[in-house]
Formats: sequence, structure tokens, C-alpha cells
Amino acid sequence: MSTPTKTTDFPIPLGPGAPVIPVDLAGGAGAARARGIANSVAVPDAVLDRLRAACAKVDTDAATCAETSRDWWALGLRWARDGKLAGVAAAVARPRTAAQVAAVLRICNDARVPVTAVAGRSGVCGASVPVFGGVLLDLCDLSGIVSVDDTSLVVDVLPGTFGDYFEHELRTKHGVTVGHWPQSIALSTVGGWIACRGAGQLSNRYGKIEDMVVGLDVALADGTILRTGGAPRAAVGPDLNQLFVGSEGTLGIIVGCRLRLHPAPAAERRGAWAFRSFADALDACRRVLRRGLPPAVLRLYDAHEANHKYQTGDRHLLLALDEGDRAVVDASFAILADELASAEKADPELVGKWMGHRNEVASPTKLLEGGLAWDTMEVTGSWRALPEIYERTVAAVRAVKHTLVCSAHQSHAYTDGACLYFTFVGRPPDDDGAWEAYYNAAWTAGTHAVLAAGGNLSHHHGVGMNRARFMREALGPALGTLVAVKNALDPNGILNPGKLGLPSSFGRVDWP
Ligand SMILES: Cc1cc2nc3c(=O)[nH]c(=O)nc-3n(C[C@H](O)[C@H](O)[C@H](O)COP(=O)(O)OP(=O)(O)OC[C@H]3O[C@@H](n4cnc5c(N)ncnc54)[C@H](O)[C@@H]3O)c2cc1C
Repeated sequence: MSTPTKTTDFPIPLGPGAPVIPVDLAGGAGAARARGIANSVAVPDAVLDRLRAACAKVDTDAATCAETSRDWWALGLRWARDGKLAGVAAAVARPRTAAQVAAVLRICNDARVPVTAVAGRSGVCGASVPVFGGVLLDLCDLSGIVSVDDTSLVVDVLPGTFGDYFEHELRTKHGVTVGHWPQSIALSTVGGWIACRGAGQLSNRYGKIEDMVVGLDVALADGTILRTGGAPRAAVGPDLNQLFVGSEGTLGIIVGCRLRLHPAPAAERRGAWAFRSFADALDACRRVLRRGLPPAVLRLYDAHEANHKYQTGDRHLLLALDEGDRAVVDASFAILADELASAEKADPELVGKWMGHRNEVASPTKLLEGGLAWDTMEVTGSWRALPEIYERTVAAVRAVKHTLVCSAHQSHAYTDGACLYFTFVGRPPDDDGAWEAYYNAAWTAGTHAVLAAGGNLSHHHGVGMNRARFMREALGPALGTLVAVKNALDPNGILNPGKLGLPSSFGRVDWP
């Protein structure tokens, strides 16, 4: 029984960025086929002609369409091993300006053709998969920093900008940081972070992406471009920024982003502690958060993950790292010392180990070749509910036949609760359908356990296709409000149909 090992040989490019292909499509991308779980909408030649006239680049060759039609959703990676995709787009439009995005939307809206926004394609829930075919709107060419205001600490950035490049430019040219550092920083874009409501590893200091958004430019389905937010705070009706943050390309396309900045950190401190009980360790995190100055990183691994990563035996392991102004960092570490006085000290070098490996990605090809099925489930709950969410979810997923391991860590904390990030790994039999049946059973058992214990559906990966089936249970009647907003903003339902648990104008998705 062991979790898959991380590999260092997986090719993560550095530089302005491009999507990373997680596994090869068996038989080659040109031969890949849709699984036939939804109606595939073709794009008539006359519409293609209009798109070509309006947009910098439009690709229709089979290999490009297939390759662009997938992301890092674990089940999609397994399907790729059979040369299959959830859906295949008929065309990939690559606009270079916001006006071109608007023009593509206008044309597709007139023709009732589905449009799915796609950028880094690092989503892990199938959110950017064009399940009904149609047009993929690839935003990677809308890339770069427009301006940095280092007096007000606001950056204006284009949505297709990849994270590692963005952060490198901010630090080296402007001495500032956004502070958003997801594990997938080199795989993902600013627009994807916002569309998925993402979280970075330093979120306790800098916030989640929704806390960083000052304002957005959004292209609606009919091609209207609107500007939301823009002020430090406002009382001008509901916050329209937040309508689009997390909307996963179903309500509008983000074509411009203003984000909050911070001075690049001047100081850093690290510490590590060990606990005999996961619940006690969670409670220590709670007490630290109550004091009002948490360190940027406060990661608590359960004993299984701690031992697997750091060989710490039966202890649960808490890693802390803070960065920023020296006075702030010293104060947050004084609070840590206070609240963790009775905990065992662990080697602070373990934080260095985490830092050294924090963006490494397990090779999906090796996992699949090893016959393993896996995924991660990141959820939130109140401090009161978290111990039960942990116990019930781990027990529920371990009870699913073929599970080898289910473990968790706490990685983002707030005064009222925190995120638990579960990982499960199973070894289903090597026959048709067994992988998918196991995967779906583990997700169903885990999600029901989380919701029953008072947790929520997702902290930062979002919903996409994989979690769509749980949206009614998670949101209850509030799902109706989301449907009403969708119908008002996108009456023809062209934007990313089949996602977020919303009804689709193009028919049903026959999965799972
Ligand atoms: C190894 C690995 C580690 C990860 N670690 C983290 C992590 O630490 N934190 C985290 O939050 N996530 C993480 N993720 C998930 C993923 O990286 C994020 O969801 C990321 O925000 C997706 O960005 P992207 O550019 O790849 O978007 P895509 O995958 O291309 O698209 C995701 C969704 O956003 C929509 N979209 C993209 N751009 C726009 C736009 N401009 N306007 C409107 N809609 C748009 C798409 O339609 C789709 O619904 C990880 C993924 C992997 C593979």
C-alpha cells in the first residue's frame, strides 16, 4: 500500500508558456474520437468562413482539435489511453484581442454553436472539455502584462498569461508579487485561475484568487464587452466581479484582469511541528488563525502523507512558512510559537524539502501504466466540522473496493474553517470499464461523505464535468438562481454547455 511517487522527469516548461500535454492520445491525436456521451455540434462552413474573417487564427485539422479538446481530468487521461475524448471540437479559434473574442462569440451566438474557453488546459475536472463539440476559444494568445501601478499595487494582465512567466516578470521587473502560487503555476493561466476560483500555496497571506481580483473585462455571449469592479471596495450593488470568478466559462469570457499586488517579500521564516492526533493538529491551526496573523503557509499532513513524503512515522506534520515584511513575519512566528508551545518540534528543514518539490507533478502516464486510478478532492468545512469530515471521508473512500489509500492534508486556512485536500489511489482490475467504475464510485462515496458531514463541494478545483452531478445536492434551491443568471446572460446557452451542473441547450450529457 503506497501512494504513487512524485517524479522529477516530467517536462514542465518554463517561459511565456503553453499547455502541457499530460498523456499521449493512443493512436495519435488525429485518430482520436469522442466517446459519444453527448450530441456533437458541427460548425457549418459558412460559420467557419465568418470566424476566419474575424479571428487571428482558426484551426480545423483533426489532430489540433483533438489535442486542444482535453485537460488534466484524471478520467479524461484514462480515456486518452483508449484514444477517446469526452468531446471533440470542430474548430479552435485563437483570438489575439478582446475585440476578436467578442466577434467569435457574436458569430457563434448567431449560429447557435457551443463555445468553450480553454487556456492552460490544466483543469482537473474536465471544465474545458468541449463535450458538445463546436468551437474551442483558445485564449493563450491574449497574453502579457498590460501595466503595473506600483503606487496603488494593481496589475493589469491579459487572461492567457501563464503563471510562472507572470510571477517572474512581476518580481524581476517590478519588485512585486501577486502571491498566487498554485502547484500548477507553470501549467495554468491567470484567466483559468479566475474562472476556476483557484488557490495558491501561500493563500493564508495573499488570499485566494477571488480576494485578488480588483476588476475584470468580460465578453458576454452576444459579444458585449463589460467592465466590472475597478475600485478598492464598492457599495454599488452586488459585486459583479464575483459573478464571473468561478463561473468556469459558462457566463462570459474574461478578456482583461486587474489584480492586487504586494511588495516582493523582504523576509522569510520556516518552522515544523509534529502531532499524535490529526484533530489536535487541526485545532492548533484553528487557534493560530484566530490570532489574526497566520503565516502564508500552514500545511498539515496526516500521518500517512507525512510519512510518505517526509518519513515521519506515525506523526501528523505541520509545516509553516511566512514571507513578507520582517515585522509581520516575526509577529506571525511569535504567535506560532505561542500556540504550538506544547507540540513536538520537527525539523524545519522539512519546509525546505517541501519548497524544493512543491511544483512537481506525478507523471500520469506512469500511474496509468502501473494500473493505478487516482484523484484529489479539495473541500472546505468549518473548524467544528473538519475532524468529522476527515474521518468520514477517509473511511468512505477506503471502503470502496480496490482502494489502496485515501489520505489528506490541510492546505488553506481561514478564521472559520479550512480546506482538506484528499488524495485517493486504487488499483482496479485491468478490464474494460473497471477503472472508470472504481473512479466514479470513489468520487461518489467521498463526496457524499463530505457533504453529509457538513463540508462543501470544492475549495479551488471547481466543478467542470466531474462534479456536475453533485451540484443539486451541494447548492439545493440556490442552483435555480445560478440557472436563472445563466439564462439571462447566455440565453442561447452557447457558453461551455454541459458544465457546472447547468442544463444545456444542446441536450444531455450521458455520463456517468
Ligand atoms: C498538477 C496540477 C496541480 C494543480 N494545482 C492547483 C493548485 O494548487 N491550485 C489550484 O487552484 N488549482 C490547481 N490545479 C488545477 C488547475 O491548474 C487550475 O484549475 C487552473 O486555474 C486552471 O487554469 P488553466 O489556465 O489551465 O485553465 P483551463 O484548464 O484551460 O480552463 C479551466 C476552466 O476555466 C475556463 N476558462 C479558462 N480561461 C478562461 C477565460 N479567460 N474566461 C473564461 N473562462 C475561462 C475554461 O472554460 C474552463 O472551464 C492543478 C492542476 C494540475 C494538473
